[in-house]
Amino acid sequence: MKNAFSRTLRSLHPWPKVPGGPYLSTCHFCDTLHEATALPEGVAARCRCCGAVLYQNRPASLVRVTAFSLAALILMVVVNFFPFLTMDAAGIRTTLNLVSAAKTLVDQGSPLLGFALVLFTLVTPLALASGLIYVCGPLLFGRVAPGAFVVAKWLNQTEPWNMIEVFLLGVLVSLLKLNKLADVHFGMGFWAFSVVMVCMAAAISGIDRDEMWDRLEVAKS
Ligand SMILES: [Zn+2]
Repeated sequence: MKNAFSRTLRSLHPWPKVPGGPYLSTCHFCDTLHEATALPEGVAARCRCCGAVLYQNRPASLVRVTAFSLAALILMVVVNFFPFLTMDAAGIRTTLNLVSAAKTLVDQGSPLLGFALVLFTLVTPLALASGLIYVCGPLLFGRVAPGAFVVAKWLNQTEPWNMIEVFLLGVLVSLLKLNKLADVHFGMGFWAFSVVMVCMAAAISGIDRDEMWDRLEVAKS
């Protein structure tokens, strides 16, 4: 059953190659030039000199990217509307979510830190997930959304600014220290945020950038 489903996805959405060619691919590590040929699904092309991956035909890439991005968007709603952390200290209970944490930073005289928190943990993941759905969703039906090329370029540039993992690591380190001063409990928002991190990693790595450009070029023509 699973194999039949996987076969259906492959036959619906094989990686199309732009007519013409031959096309070339350069190794990012040793600059060796290779001819970029079409690959079967699940196979990676490697550099013949250093063995680095040149490009990869990932299984059911469009479905995977769209589904994980959609899941991340839905979970971001949970992150913003449910408590991230609850702290009990000296009989006082404090509940924080990401927005209230940023507001506290601003109130305490660190507006830059508050702005960076909102930008890197809320705005960038939301924009990345929305951008991926905007580009890959219509491609599932062989169409190109207006301005999809600009959005795809912008996605490549903003990818490194998705810093959910760094933020989560910072939170965990701070909590280890805070635990000595107060009773700290993780809320639903924290667990949702952890799953968002996994979904964003799966969505971003779900499709090879060469494949995205080929699909856009073929769907446009
Ligand atoms: Zn190489």
